[in-house]
Amino acid sequence: MKSEAKTVIIGGGIIGLSVAYNLAKLGESDVVVLEKGYLGNGSTFRCGTGIRQQFGDEVNIRMMKRSVELWSGLSEELGHNVEFKQGGYLFLLYDEEELESFKKNVRLQNRFGVPSRIITPGEAREIVPPLNTDGVIGAAWNHTDGKANPFKVVFAYADAAKRLGVEIYEYTEAKGIKVENGKIKAVVTNRGEIKTGRVINAANAWAPKINEMAGVPVDIPIHPYKHQGVKTEPIKPGQIEPMVVSFKHGGVYLTQEANQGGVIGGYGLKYGPTYDITPTHEFLRGVSYRFSQIIPALKYINVIRIWGGYYAETPDGNATIGRINEIDEFYIAAGFSGHGFMLAPVVGEAMAELVVNGKTDKPLDFYDPYRFERGELRGKAIQMG
Ligand SMILES: Cc1cc2nc3c(=O)[nH]c(=O)nc-3n(C[C@H](O)[C@H](O)[C@H](O)COP(=O)(O)OP(=O)(O)OC[C@H]3O[C@@H](n4cnc5c(N)ncnc54)[C@H](O)[C@@H]3O)c2cc1C
Repeated sequence: MKSEAKTVIIGGGIIGLSVAYNLAKLGESDVVVLEKGYLGNGSTFRCGTGIRQQFGDEVNIRMMKRSVELWSGLSEELGHNVEFKQGGYLFLLYDEEELESFKKNVRLQNRFGVPSRIITPGEAREIVPPLNTDGVIGAAWNHTDGKANPFKVVFAYADAAKRLGVEIYEYTEAKGIKVENGKIKAVVTNRGEIKTGRVINAANAWAPKINEMAGVPVDIPIHPYKHQGVKTEPIKPGQIEPMVVSFKHGGVYLTQEANQGGVIGGYGLKYGPTYDITPTHEFLRGVSYRFSQIIPALKYINVIRIWGGYYAETPDGNATIGRINEIDEFYIAAGFSGHGFMLAPVVGEAMAELVVNGKTDKPLDFYDPYRFERGELRGKAIQMG
């Protein structure tokens, strides 16, 4: 392990790796990533794979529009197939109030170039043949939303970053951060010390612990909540191409994996704040019931796996991204709730621009880590699960 580095990124999930890759792409040398377990073991490998631009606020729409542009070229750019597939997102709507609010979202999304639209229950069935549309009065549909394979993306980012000179240390835990007179001096790990003047906190659910190590003087409320995912045995390919979402059924979401054919998803059952991510029987029962309400044929399909993972939640469901003013060269990109996987390409790009150029054209002010202290919550981000 190096004893000195210009930049130390703490966290080897998709965010830390995307930041590392983008820093190296902008020409930064001497970048190190520390991961206390194996890459992806935090939230990233436990995610529902969904990538959407259908948000209800301008900034998340714009950020995700750029992220989808990046996702579209990512396999080629990183040199590995990340299985990005634009199968769309389909929000099922059951009453006038829901319909009106999604019409408003669609108008906003269209203003920023996202080609979402409201469709009829019949059109929804054409997109998802086994769909139950009883009670559905319309659906919000965007065919450019999609999904990707978290395992492949993590590997692809890590490999591409390494090719550009980034060093990645797994099973290497940041245990302390030495700061003197507002300047970072070193990161202390279980494998020794790395002298550095710059730290990027990409530890998501553990981000508050990293802030504490550095003595970050501002209160950045990020709390770990247990959310769970499920996967079924494979079904005939092409049955459920989009991510199908119903808030009327407890926030259930499900889609068929691009390559392996299993149905993957979850619903809005959460526990916490807690660092315990043991899967629960309550979830298994609840998710099976809801899946079969949306796609009745799933009653006959076996579940092969359930798992728990973290939504690292802030009070408004939006991440905290930016610089901590009181400590020179300390940055944070954490607290991504249920949408950090999809945002990773654009967040990596924006963070690298901020670090290298001192500014970015992405609207990062929205994610300002100081907003909570000022009592300035953003509108709650649309969230699955
Ligand atoms: C059930 C479920 C479904 C989800 N579905 C979706 C979805 O469909 N779409 C979507 O966009 N998002 C989804 N998410 C959210 C998504 O998984 C996260 O927002 C995203 O993975 C966050 O990435 P990250 O790199 O910030 O965090 P993580 O992947 O958690 O990475 C942080 C890393 O930091 C490491 N770390 C922590 N402390 C230290 C330390 N002291 N030293 C060294 N390393 C440390 C951890 O081990 C971890 O690997 C879902 C999450 C769950 C749980």
